[in-house]
Amino acid sequence: MKKQYKIIDTHAHFGLASNKMIEKGIVEYGRRKKLLEDIDDLKQKVGFEKGIIEDDNSLEAYVQIMKKNGIEQSWLHQLSFGEELGYDILDNESIAIAIKKYPGLFKGFASVNPNSNNSLEELRYAIETLKLHAFKLNPNDYGGFWLNDKEKLYPLYDYCSQNNIPVSVHTGITPGTIFRMKHNYPILLDDVAVDFPNLKIIVEHMGYPWNDLCYYMVSRHKNMYVTITAVANILIHNNPRNFIVELSKMISIFGSEKILWGSDWTATPNIDEVLHYMKNLSVPIVMRKMMNLPKISENDIQNILYNNALNILPK
Ligand SMILES: [Zn+2]
Repeated sequence: MKKQYKIIDTHAHFGLASNKMIEKGIVEYGRRKKLLEDIDDLKQKVGFEKGIIEDDNSLEAYVQIMKKNGIEQSWLHQLSFGEELGYDILDNESIAIAIKKYPGLFKGFASVNPNSNNSLEELRYAIETLKLHAFKLNPNDYGGFWLNDKEKLYPLYDYCSQNNIPVSVHTGITPGTIFRMKHNYPILLDDVAVDFPNLKIIVEHMGYPWNDLCYYMVSRHKNMYVTITAVANILIHNNPRNFIVELSKMISIFGSEKILWGSDWTATPNIDEVLHYMKNLSVPIVMRKMMNLPKISENDIQNILYNNALNILPK
C-alpha cells in the first residue's frame, strides 16, 4: 500500500499588494517594477504563466492550498523585499494575527531590521510578547547586510542561542536582480556556527548554487540544517534528475534528519507538482547503480516532509 505522508510546510509567505507605500514615496517605482518582473520570471520557471496567481496571495488562498495538499501546519515568514514591493502586510504583528486566527495551523518566524538601532528589542518583543516561535533573516532585506556582522547580527544570534530559538537564513538564490548575491553567500554562516555552537541555524535554499559548500558546512556543524525550499520547485519542474542527485548527496553526507521542506509559496507556487513528486519519489535502480546513489527510503521522505520540522523547530 502506498504510504500516506504527513506534511509540514516550513516556509510560506503571504501579503496583500498595496499602492499605499508607493503613493507615500516609500517604494521606488523602478526597483519595484524590476523586482516584480524578476518574480514573474521565477514563476514562469516553475510552470506558472505570467500573473496567474498575482491576484490572490492572501492567507485565505494559502489555507485552501494547505487543505488540498494535506499540509498539517505551516511556518509563516515575513514577506521579503517589502520595501521594494510596497506590500502592506509584512510585519511580525500580521503573522501573530494569522496564528491567532487559525489556531494550530500556523507558526511564525519573526523578522527585524538588523540595520536599525533597536533590532534586539524588536526581536524580544516579537518572541516574548507576540509569541512568534523562531527568527528569520534575509540578507537582501533592509538595504542588505552581512550575516557575520558582529556589531549588527551577533547580539541577535546571542539572544536566539541563549533562548534556544532557531534562526532560518535565506542563502544562495535570489530572483531579484536588484539585489547583490554576495550577501547570500552561505559561508558567512560558518562564522556564526563557529561562534555560536549551540545556535540552531537553518540554511534556506541549500545555499544554491553554493550547495556543495553548504553540504560540507551542514555536515561539520551539529546544529546546522538545510532546506530544499524553492530549489526543489525549480529542479523538479525543470530537471528532476538533478534534484535526485542533490537529494541523494545530502542524504549520504549528513542523513535525511537534517533536511527540511518548504514551499516558498507564493514565490514558487508549484506546490502540487513538488509534493506529488516527493510522495512518489523512487530512483530507478539503473540510475542508482550507475551513479552510486543511496536508496531514498519512505522514512527519508517522511523525515523531510514532516518529522524534521517537529524535531528541529520549536513546539
Ligand atoms: Zn521565502
